[in-house]
Amino acid sequence: SGSLYLVGTPIGNLEDITFRAVRILKECDIIAAEDTRQTRKLLTHFEITPEHLFSYHEHNKLASGPELIRYIIEGKNLALVSDAGLPAISDPGSDLVKLAIAEGIPVIPIPGANAALSALIVSGLSTERFTFAGFLPRERKDIQSVLTTLQYGQGTLLFYESPHRIIKTLGFLLETLGNRRIVLARELTKRYEEIVRGSIDECLLWLDEHSPIGEYVVVVEGASKEEEQAQRDAWWQDLSLEEHVT
Ligand code: SAM
Repeated sequence: SGSLYLVGTPIGNLEDITFRAVRILKECDIIAAEDTRQTRKLLTHFEITPEHLFSYHEHNKLASGPELIRYIIEGKNLALVSDAGLPAISDPGSDLVKLAIAEGIPVIPIPGANAALSALIVSGLSTERFTFAGFLPRERKDIQSVLTTLQYGQGTLLFYESPHRIIKTLGFLLETLGNRRIVLARELTKRYEEIVRGSIDECLLWLDEHSPIGEYVVVVEGASKEEEQAQRDAWWQDLSLEEHVT
């Protein structure tokens, strides 16, 4: 069979593509992309003319996935790209990876830019331990249940967010986690790149004064040792209360 290449592409600045990514995209028989129009622009820029450009996205992945896998089994090499950054990070790529692994197809990473890690390294917050949480769910109760599981971890938290929801999301973070230090990394590697550091309410104020247009990574300081300890104490207390009752 052929191989499945997961090819990292820029998150804005086209100079961030790698030499290897360009070569692999030129050599593969098929390129599968989230948004073929967007990817065509990238390919044109690097003078890459694929034999076949297929779309593979959230809404066609169930039908398109097995079809792409069939081509690979027949011997074609397939490069999967996402709209930006690394495929399989907050996009349907991971489903294709699972299908490929189930068929014994080699899956090969071609590393490249990634929004979350780029934001983390400039954040100034701890990089020693961190949790990538991607996009928060849409419903209030689902958001709350995700944030509850993240609330007492000491590692830095990373979220993706769109301009339409950024203010609402910061509101949820403030409500659940308290007024922690955060970093908004907006439009990374692009012309209007901006890194805003402050408490959640300071960042909300900043958003109030600036248009929220752009793509965001929200980096949130982890729980303090004291918060984590308080949670542990409360848990033990609950446990001993229960024992008392029974
Ligand atoms: N696969 C991508 C990666 O490796 O980073 C992420 C894809 S996800 C569908 C898109 C989200 O990533 C955006 O809504 C935004 O939160 C974040 N993102 C992508 N490009 C960005 C950039 N240049 N600056 C800040 N955030 C970005």
